[in-house]
Formats: sequence, C-alpha cells, structure tokens
Amino acid sequence: MNISTSQALFEKAQNFIPGGVNSPVRAFRAVGGSPVFIKSAKGPYVYDEDDNEYIELINSWGPMILGHGHDLIQKAVADAIQHSFSFGAPTRREVEMAELIVSMVPSIEKVRMVNSGTEATMSAIRVARGFTGRDKIIKFEGCYHGHGDSFLIAAGSGAVTFGTPDSPGVTKGVANDTLTAPYNDLEAVQRLVDANKGAIAALILEPVVGNMGCVLPAEGFLEGLRKICDQEGIVFIFDEVMTGFRLSKGGAQERFGIKPDLTTLGKIIGGGMPVGAYGGKAEIMNWVSPLGPVYQAGTLSGNPIAMAAGLTMLHYLDEHPEVYTQLEASGHKLVNGFTNSMKKLGLNYTMNSIGSMYTLFFTEQAVTDFPSAKTSDLPLFGKYFHAMLDRGIYMGPSQFESMFLSTALEDSHIARIIQANEESLKEVIG
Ligand SMILES: *Cc1c(COP(=O)(O)O)cnc(C)c1O
Repeated sequence: MNISTSQALFEKAQNFIPGGVNSPVRAFRAVGGSPVFIKSAKGPYVYDEDDNEYIELINSWGPMILGHGHDLIQKAVADAIQHSFSFGAPTRREVEMAELIVSMVPSIEKVRMVNSGTEATMSAIRVARGFTGRDKIIKFEGCYHGHGDSFLIAAGSGAVTFGTPDSPGVTKGVANDTLTAPYNDLEAVQRLVDANKGAIAALILEPVVGNMGCVLPAEGFLEGLRKICDQEGIVFIFDEVMTGFRLSKGGAQERFGIKPDLTTLGKIIGGGMPVGAYGGKAEIMNWVSPLGPVYQAGTLSGNPIAMAAGLTMLHYLDEHPEVYTQLEASGHKLVNGFTNSMKKLGLNYTMNSIGSMYTLFFTEQAVTDFPSAKTSDLPLFGKYFHAMLDRGIYMGPSQFESMFLSTALEDSHIARIIQANEESLKEVIG
C-alpha cells in the first residue's frame, strides 16, 4: 500500500508538533510504522492522503456512531454556521441539549456542558470534593479519565501504551490524593475505604472499560461499589465519556440498571465536535458556580455549532431505538465471525465485547483487569494491526483500545472485517 504522502506529512509534522501528532496514540508508536493521515470520511469509510480507502473501526474513538458525515448532522452544522460561531452568552440550544440529556440519562437531573471529556472528569471530581469537603479520590488501574493531573495515575490507553502511567509534571500532592484499585476487585476498594475513613470524596470508573481494551464489570461489581459509596458518603461517578449513548441511549447506567451520583459524558455527545458534559443529582450539581461555590467555566462551553451537532445526534439516537438493535446485531455477527475463525485456526485468544465495543486480546487468559490485559502479546498485536491495515481495515493502533462499530457498517462490511481478521491472524501466526 502506498502511504508516501502520509509519511511525508508525518516527517514534516515532527518538526513542528511534539511527536508529530496532537494526541499521542495517533503516532502509531504501539504498533510501529507511520500513521496514515486522514483526508476525508463518509459512512463506514475513511480515506487517507494517498486516497487509500479503509473500513473504520475507530470512528473518532466513538463519536461517529452513525458513521461519518451523517446528512442530518452536516445539515445542522451548516445551518448553525449561518448565525456566527460563538457568542459567549446563553443560547436556546443549550437549554434543549440539557433537557434532552436529562431525559435520556437515568441519573442526571442537572448538567453542565464543557468542551472535552477531560474537562468533564476534572470538573466532576472538583464538585465531588466541594460537596463532600474531602480530598481523596479512588480510581481503577487501567481506567482512563482524560489527561487531568489527578487521573494520570495508573491510567489506561495512551498512557499505558507510552509506559508513563505516572506522568512527570504531576505533583506528589496530587498523586497522594489519588488512590488506585484493580478493576473488578471490590475487596481492594473496601480496604482503601477502610484505611481512609472519611477522606474519600469520589470513586470514579468506566462502568465498562474501553481504555485497557474492552473490559466488562464482573457480576455484582457495580452494585457493590454503589453500596460502598452509599455507606461511606462517597460520590459515585460513572465516566461514560465512551459508553454514554453507545451501550444504550442512556449509556451503561441504563444497560446495567445502576444509578451513579455523577456522570461524565463526551465523544458521542458532540457528534464529532469538541463537547463534554458532567451532570447528576441536583443536590450535588447545585454546588456548581454561579449557583454554588465550586468554580467551573468555559469561554466556548455550549458552543452553538457544537450544540447543533450534538443536539442533532442525541435527538436522532433518542428517536431511533433501532440504532441500538442494529449495533447489537452487528456486534454479535462480528464476534461470531471472529470466534469461528479462531476455532478454524486453532486459536484461543480472548475476545471481550459488549454491544458495539470489542477488543481481541492476544492472550488466552480471561481479561478482567489491567494485569490480565497486560498478558497480551503486544508485538503480535502490532503485526496483526498492520495486517488488517494492509487489508483496508483501520483499527485503533494499540492492544489497549476498544474498537467501535457504527450503524454505517452493513453486513457486507462486517463480512469483509471478518475475512480480513481471519487472513491477518493466519498471516501473523504463520
Ligand atoms: C476519551 C475519554 C476521556 C477523555 O475525553 P477527551 O475528550 O479526550 O478529553 C475520558 N474518559 C473516558 C472514559 C474516555 O474514553
């Protein structure tokens, strides 16, 4: 495959941008080789600067759940642009957006818009700290909550890939306030809580993890955490930046029937534009400025163009339950196809999946937490990634990522992915 234009751009980019990219995982370091530069996308396809066509499994890390360049969202943005780009003043769409989010996400009573998932999680723990008057938070190893200082402790995804789970630049003071437990380990959480009585403001997790690859909560795990938080007065936060509006229209909390106190959102909520949000119980959200004393602001928050995209996306998902039926069916077809191929080839790798998220881990161990995810054969994944890319399938460039399906994938695309997977496995196992 000719990717010479991408290679030239990457060479040049490295002169002006640290590592040549504006977000680390894009640099392909975990899989080797040179990243492809994307020029355009439509439906299930992306096109690179050398006009290669790929079937998409990243979907901008989740937001493009309806596929690329969806007509309704493009039209909403085009219409909104007619009225200028930003006012720094309240707008009608922000009210509609908040009302819609509250109606879709079971535990949210009030919500504040921000510009990224990172801002959402940073703000949510600030509110939790203000509300409880406590400093410490608990997070889980391998869960990623954006690049806020408090979360760059045993973080997943890009941070895992780059071997800097504890980033320089994060102060000891901040690190001391972040306690970490292994995912799916209730007893470890109970021990942390017992050792820090009355000091823990919040417990935050991905209710389904996407950032150490796709990892599901064990039976009873979320319920157990809910109980511990209730007993100890800890603010229970679901980071649904990835799972929100994906695992169901009400996110993981609707799917599992568990209500957190606060929820953070991002990705799909902006329909591809930079949007995040945090919300939850009114009792807690009333602490946010200007109503309450916890300060949080944003010049471009609730940006009218971004709201036009997000609002159109959420309305569509709200009004089309068949989106989720289709995504579930696509997920099943893909998992069945991959499983059959592995049987045929005598392979027994672990495939984790739920709805439209999946990860094929190059390990035979069950993957339930970060240590088990790390038993994967990473060089083998790198070879597999490139074998897939050569066959026109564009995946997340790290073993520790979840793939995302969109409704733009038809059966013929899914069949192509399954076939590419079988050929790629054959090639790399040799
Ligand atoms: C992507 C992600 C974030 C960070 O969102 P950004 O918009 O990249 O800042 C936070 N939490 C989870 C679970 C994510 O997947």
